[in-house]
Amino acid sequence: MNKEVLDGLFRPKSVAVIGASATPGKIGYSVVEALNNGKYEGPIYPINLKADEILGHKAYPSILDLTGKVDLAVITVPAKFVLGSVEECGKAKVKGISIITSGFGEIGDHETENAIVETAHRYGMRVLGPNIIGSLSNSDKLNASFAPTLPLPGDASLISQSGALLIALDAGTYLRGVGFDKLFSLGNMADVDFSDIIEWLDQDERTKCISLYIEGLKDGRRFVDVCKKASKPIIALKSGVSAHGAAAAASHTGSLAGAAKVYGAAFEQAGIIQAQDLNNLFDLTQAFELQPPMKGDHLLIVTNGGGVGVLATDAAERYGIPLEFCPADLQAEMKNYMPEFGSAKNPVDITGGAGLEGYKKCIAFGLQQDWVDGLAVLYCETAMTNPMEIAQGILEAVHQAEENEASKGKPVAVSFVGGEHTAEAMRYLIDHGIPTYDDPARAVNVLGGLRQYARLQEAKANSKNEDGFKADKQAALAIIQAAREDGRDALTEIEAKDVFRAYGLDVTSTRLAKTEDEAVALANKVGYPIVMKIVSPDILHKSDASGVKVNIKDDASTREWFNKIIANAKAYKADANIHGVAIQEMAPLGSEVILGSINDAAFGPTVMFGLGGIFVEVLKDVTFAVTPVSKQQALKMQSDIRGAKILDGARGEKPRDKEAMAITIARYSHMILDLQDEIKESDANPVMVYEDGSGLKVVDARIILKKK
Ligand code: ADP
Ligand code: MG
Repeated sequence: MNKEVLDGLFRPKSVAVIGASATPGKIGYSVVEALNNGKYEGPIYPINLKADEILGHKAYPSILDLTGKVDLAVITVPAKFVLGSVEECGKAKVKGISIITSGFGEIGDHETENAIVETAHRYGMRVLGPNIIGSLSNSDKLNASFAPTLPLPGDASLISQSGALLIALDAGTYLRGVGFDKLFSLGNMADVDFSDIIEWLDQDERTKCISLYIEGLKDGRRFVDVCKKASKPIIALKSGVSAHGAAAAASHTGSLAGAAKVYGAAFEQAGIIQAQDLNNLFDLTQAFELQPPMKGDHLLIVTNGGGVGVLATDAAERYGIPLEFCPADLQAEMKNYMPEFGSAKNPVDITGGAGLEGYKKCIAFGLQQDWVDGLAVLYCETAMTNPMEIAQGILEAVHQAEENEASKGKPVAVSFVGGEHTAEAMRYLIDHGIPTYDDPARAVNVLGGLRQYARLQEAKANSKNEDGFKADKQAALAIIQAAREDGRDALTEIEAKDVFRAYGLDVTSTRLAKTEDEAVALANKVGYPIVMKIVSPDILHKSDASGVKVNIKDDASTREWFNKIIANAKAYKADANIHGVAIQEMAPLGSEVILGSINDAAFGPTVMFGLGGIFVEVLKDVTFAVTPVSKQQALKMQSDIRGAKILDGARGEKPRDKEAMAITIARYSHMILDLQDEIKESDANPVMVYEDGSGLKVVDARIILKKK
């Protein structure tokens, strides 16, 4: 990142508007007007061939006519003139260009788009857009866009891939009471992308948290890297996660939307909090602007109504912070703050009868307890209480608690349910730094987000890879090369296992028998019982061709099955190239899991783990992780699948060797990353996982090569 150039693009000391216009309704007019309305303090230079003056600023026919320096040039001229303007900007030593004009990559003209970026880079400039609304910064009084106003000021910054949405959200900041310092429209991301701006915002002192609206990423690996390194919370709303949505997003911005599960996994690895919808994006943004992360699992709920208490309890479970009863001493103390029929268990129900004092005491006391990590305060408007008084009381109690060291750094979120008076009181709380929502589930949801953030930070800190295994890449490449020379892009099971072995995976020993006699000799070497399998690069799913026989116990059966398996293969596919039959050690039965790899369009080499065996396609119980996967992450993958309990030892079985599985996943991830230029996809299905301490065995292996 060239910080000075991006500073010029996003916090310019002077702005030129190329294609500025004196005609209301034109974009070139709106941009100058927006700069004026935002009260931008630096010089504004409208560039227009004919005009002498536009909206109070002296106009120039070309940017090359200026004597003053220009940091940012906003380009609004028709598409066919943009490239020429960029060239002129370069000559005028502009730092950054923001291209509002559309009609490039999004309609298929990648050639001009690429030429624009090349030209800009030649002069050391960076390009935002094209096809954007522009960029806005409250702290610089800069509205370099055609959005009518700067957003409500706040401590978050938002990057949106959709321009129309950005304008709408900008206006919405006032209605929602959620403020932003900076807004960026990304458009086609021909040059500057999410990663560039996130890196820059991470160093921007006016930005406390970063919110994203993403349709598709081009360089997902860099994105994950940059977000991992960022020191500020990042909240992302990803659209196009449904199959149909993905198609819509792709045609919309010309970028690729990856599979929902891969995005989810990548966000988690990057430490990003994923928002579910627009409202949720705002809710989370507000919470991260105003409150600290939640460092432990104990949520205290204080309520005056049973109904909202139960709703919040349900939400707590849904959002990953299930409620626990308060310890007895906390209950005993809080019991004093409420009527006899109240409950201090958790939710702490001070009842409609407790009023202001009940809230204040429970909040101040609760926040100071070590046991409490976060607090949700719920209020239902009643005839006996005044919402504004309650709001003021809540704030007072929170401030009072903060005087005590023990209650520092604990997040608070509030939910008020009621009418007009309630709405006013909510706004009062938000203005005083307490995120407040009209639904208890929303308040609990943001606390869940603040908790998840703290967990992800911890996971990041623990994700060092301490496995000392040294892979033999040369051996793997030699096997792959031999198959390529043979004109194949699929490895046989034997070859694939040799590659897996080179990366430290525990595979069943497997040898090729070309004749019946060889089969018997090898079987005796391996020792009965054995497994026999067809070896043919043309038969990838061996069982489909009746090409697998397990539990063969003697020489006679070995001879019999050698011939049967070859006959079955020929019957299945007459012209199949048959290498022979594999003689394989028979692995004891374990829990069957699958390891797989794909090359994701956005994130590159990606690992899949799940319950395997013959039902894998039916159960679809799999999780993903972008490579490299640490052992710690690999343990998490195992607990993320729906059938996680099976690995923990369900129904009287002993727990499985998750440790060995984690090491295997990590090594496998290393393999597909290391060989990403060679391997298109691969899997180990099944892997037999044994009891804790007894390891695992990969009994089947498959590698498909990239075409070269
Ligand atoms: P494919 O998936 O190509 O049909 P596999 O090699 O996975 O063939 O074999 C099919 C099934 O046979 C496996 O899912 C597994 O249950 C069993 N199996 C295969 N190899 C062995 C082995 N070496 N030890 C024990 N069971 C095996
Ligand atoms: Mg298999």
